[in-house]
Amino acid sequence: MEPWFSDEEKKALADYFDRGGWATEFEKTKELEKSIAEFTGSKHCVFTTSGTAALFLILKALGIGAGHEVIVPDFTMIGTANAVHWAGAEPVFVDIHPSNWCLDLDGVEKAITPKTKALILVSFNGRSPKMNRAKEIADRHKIFLIEDAAQSLGSRSKGQHLGTFGIAGMFSFSAPKVITTGQGGAIVTSSDELDQKIRQLKDFGRKQSGVDEHPVMGYNFKVTDIQSVIGIEQMKKLPWRLERKKEMYALYRKELEGVDEIEWVETNLEEASPWFIDVLVSEREELREFLKSEGVGTRPVYPPIHSQGAYGKKGSFPVTEKIAKHGLWLPSSSFLKDEDIIQICRKIKKFYLEV
Ligand SMILES: *Cc1c(COP(=O)(O)O)cnc(C)c1O
Repeated sequence: MEPWFSDEEKKALADYFDRGGWATEFEKTKELEKSIAEFTGSKHCVFTTSGTAALFLILKALGIGAGHEVIVPDFTMIGTANAVHWAGAEPVFVDIHPSNWCLDLDGVEKAITPKTKALILVSFNGRSPKMNRAKEIADRHKIFLIEDAAQSLGSRSKGQHLGTFGIAGMFSFSAPKVITTGQGGAIVTSSDELDQKIRQLKDFGRKQSGVDEHPVMGYNFKVTDIQSVIGIEQMKKLPWRLERKKEMYALYRKELEGVDEIEWVETNLEEASPWFIDVLVSEREELREFLKSEGVGTRPVYPPIHSQGAYGKKGSFPVTEKIAKHGLWLPSSSFLKDEDIIQICRKIKKFYLEV
């Protein structure tokens, strides 16, 4: 994964400072929020310091905390679960479905208790389960559907942008994501009330910006206009990045066709723009060693979160465990040329077919 910064960001930052910008969150952040809201078809967007902070703010604004449970997938980036912990609630881990690596919705139904307040649906690598069903489950049990769409900027389900199905959703702008502001997170919601609450919480619980009256306990999760100036330029590059990722995914698939040791997750490129190239492989560690010796870096996918020292929970999560053992991210920088990808695939084929 590689970010793409170029003359556009440099020039925009120079212009910003030439005009006397104060670096703190102001007009440029509003402009970025507007651009994300328009792109995703959301009524509101609030930009904040990270995707994890975005989830935390959503949970707090919904009044979720001590004594509550929130369902999260066992297979995700750990920030999803940590946001629940920091809000004071209990993350309840549920296994994922092998067809899309997202929450298994049957498992979700089984995990709901009277304490459950929300489910956080992670759309893994731009893929999603049946979103209407997720919504229906949440509505029927009177719990909130929150979307962790950190990996899904530019991905849709039946034409609707991911992140916009539940009460609120969020995207991450950390360095490895499809576009980046170094660090950053965007919340989207169609609720005026939630938008207002989140803005208040991220600014010390102030009644209004610039007024030192604090009706509620708040935090400081404001960003800088420096990040937003970069984000505005990154949004202009997003369409190209999304298309390139789709082309790369299709090329990897084509080049690795017929290699039985590699398993793909069904990915509809009409709707999902895979942010990275994720596959299941046999002999993962041996393959990684071989590729490394050939100058190709790879990365194992996330471990089962319940088993991490931070949580130390027991339980059976067979799909997550299998994917955590066999899942691999192949080189996914959008700067890879087609020839590079063909070369990488040749090396993979060499490992399985000749060694
Ligand atoms: C990246 C990521 C996060 C965390 O976002 P940060 O901006 O790094 O805090 C949360 N969930 C998922 C699925 C992610 O990929």
